[in-house]
Amino acid sequence: MTVLALCTAAAFAVAAPAAPQKPDSTYLPTLGDTARGDLSPVVERKLGEEIMRDIRRDRDYLDDEPILEYLNNFGNALVSAAPGARGETNSDFYFFAVRDAALNAFALPGGFIGAHSGLIIAAQTESELAGVMSHEIGHVSQRHIARMLGQQKQDVLLPLASMILAALAAKASSDAAMGVLMGGQGLAIQRQLNFSRDAEREADRVGFQIMGAGGYDTTGMVAFFRRLQSASKLYGELPVGLSSLSSHPLTQERIVDMQARIRELPRKQRVDSLDFHLVRARVRVLQDPSEQGRREARTAFETQLKDAHRQQQAGAQYGLAYLALKQGDLAGAQGWLDKARATMKPREGVFTTTSNVGDGASMFAGLALEIKMASGQPPAVLQQAVAEAEQARQRFPLSRAIAHQYAEVLIASGKLDDAARFLRDQAQQYREEPKLHDMLAKTYAKQGKIALQHMALAESYVLAGALPAAVDQLNLARKASDVSFYDQSVIDARERELQARQKAEKEEEKER
Ligand SMILES: [Zn+2]
Repeated sequence: MTVLALCTAAAFAVAAPAAPQKPDSTYLPTLGDTARGDLSPVVERKLGEEIMRDIRRDRDYLDDEPILEYLNNFGNALVSAAPGARGETNSDFYFFAVRDAALNAFALPGGFIGAHSGLIIAAQTESELAGVMSHEIGHVSQRHIARMLGQQKQDVLLPLASMILAALAAKASSDAAMGVLMGGQGLAIQRQLNFSRDAEREADRVGFQIMGAGGYDTTGMVAFFRRLQSASKLYGELPVGLSSLSSHPLTQERIVDMQARIRELPRKQRVDSLDFHLVRARVRVLQDPSEQGRREARTAFETQLKDAHRQQQAGAQYGLAYLALKQGDLAGAQGWLDKARATMKPREGVFTTTSNVGDGASMFAGLALEIKMASGQPPAVLQQAVAEAEQARQRFPLSRAIAHQYAEVLIASGKLDDAARFLRDQAQQYREEPKLHDMLAKTYAKQGKIALQHMALAESYVLAGALPAAVDQLNLARKASDVSFYDQSVIDARERELQARQKAEKEEEKER
């Protein structure tokens, strides 16, 4: 799953026949052929969701709203920029980050793309990050994973999911993780987890078109490749996948390929978004929560402060603010945040518009709220947070991170009716966010509304794909002492619906 060189997919046992190469001149040509015996898109998505359920529960999943918001805005903008990037199956994409210092990114079945924290920190420009992400998008759009897996029956999906997870764990880190992985089989599986050379080249080529269409500097891809190469020379102890990079002739070959493509294109200059620098700082703080990790983050920020670029300075100041918050130094956090904002303050005579996407404004507002919401703040500060959250909500209506924070502030300040109203309304608009139902359940719990609490939790489980757990919650709701006649009928109807869905899924399995 190493970036560009050994991206993960899963293939063991069933290898799809080699795909024919098509000429480069075709725009995002499709090598995958759904009729040819690939994993079906529906099954592929289910497999991806199965894996994601486990990843989301993993403590190394970076469940951090600003990071997730940035990655998904960034990744989906890339996907939308190039016609055909969604591939013939018109995939939906979801981008996320995991805590791991190795320079890696990987594509999972079904359009889920993960980036290691180490990779996000190592990317020096947004174009470099775009290069890696576009390459992974390329694997998805060309259906490389589906082709590797071939036709699998539904009943192998669970073992398949756990094997991919085990391989991810093994690749990500140490020998310790390797031990967990089914003894000697581990290595054998790992070898089969890599895409073929042709697939890698195709992902390079398609990724290149995607990042170009997205307006990024295509030399970023080569720059990052180079960084990977030198990283693998500098450190002997790099992750399993990377260590083979230096001995891999593919890399040099692919760099040459890419340089040839770059020469054909006009060079694009691009100014990075401030959000990119702020997110990197956040990732750096979250990557290693140990004492030593925090010290290293501080040193890195202090070095970065000396950088001549304003964005780099503001990123370092934001990072120091977030670090101080994590260490309970609230005054220090506020001080550094103020400095970061001052650094980016529009200078006189410089034309600026208010709050552009990516200009850091929503992330600054979000961190200010985090600081005010931290434990140890006096009640007056919480009241200030309510006013600030309302302003932020109006100023950044599209930010999911701010919307969630707004709800948290309402709950924390005891405005429970407002919170419930807001969250119910949000859940209607954003039907795929389990978190809204979790917060709604928390609100109802605080209000002592037991039946509604369990009904909200049921919806959260439905969205997480855990139907039996959802039905359990409905039963708890039915038994609650405060269940109303109206709730009863809602619960009954919902239960019938979920049972029908479960039944349909079981029959689907039999048919396959
Ligand atoms: Zn790859």
